[in-house]
Amino acid sequence: MAKDQRLIRVSLGWVNVFFIKGKKAVIVDTGPPGAGRRVLNALLRHNIKREEVSLIILTHAHFDHFGGAPTLRQALSAPLVVHRADAFYLERGENAPIIPLGLFGKVLIGVFKGWAKKRLAIPCEILIEDRLDLSQFGINAYILPTPGHTEGSISVILSDGEAIIGDLLAPHPIFRWRPNLPLFAQEKGLALESIKMLLSLGINKFYAAHGGPWDREDIERWILK
Ligand SMILES: [Zn+2]
Ligand SMILES: [Zn+2]
Repeated sequence: MAKDQRLIRVSLGWVNVFFIKGKKAVIVDTGPPGAGRRVLNALLRHNIKREEVSLIILTHAHFDHFGGAPTLRQALSAPLVVHRADAFYLERGENAPIIPLGLFGKVLIGVFKGWAKKRLAIPCEILIEDRLDLSQFGINAYILPTPGHTEGSISVILSDGEAIIGDLLAPHPIFRWRPNLPLFAQEKGLALESIKMLLSLGINKFYAAHGGPWDREDIERWILK
């Protein structure tokens, strides 16, 4: 992380959200429904003023990532950026498809579908389909589409080999310290391609929304073995 910029991981229990504080500040993901207030409190704890927040980024349209967005939109004047493919669901108050990859995913799908019921529509100001440079928002970083977990999943690439990857990787269901493909993914092949693409960019630290962070060596050892 560049000296004039810091990455802050805020744990909300089973979900992490992130702040990147540079000339301004951006929020990456907003936690599950009801978490908005806790995210606002975390801003305060980290000495980030509400008016400093220039952007709210959602890595994808699942309820545990967009749940705090309505509260944050009310409290902050920052626009919301989402990939166009996932905005399709947000603007209808729906989740992007939740498709189990393996046995654990199949067992848990009922629980997730229950939580992921229809909600208020969330309007999105900025829709992207390609790379978006964040210097215009006071941050030395860029957004890159990394599809697989959902069609519109995105990652935030920081200047010195760090990336915030949403649910592109998740903890192994038993060996929690290991990275794993998530339990749910729209397209497993695409997720693997996205992971390889991030490695080819020289990413060496992967910050995920659940568990992590993981080093490049962890990914090569457990995912691409
Ligand atoms: Zn997800
Ligand atoms: Zn998630």
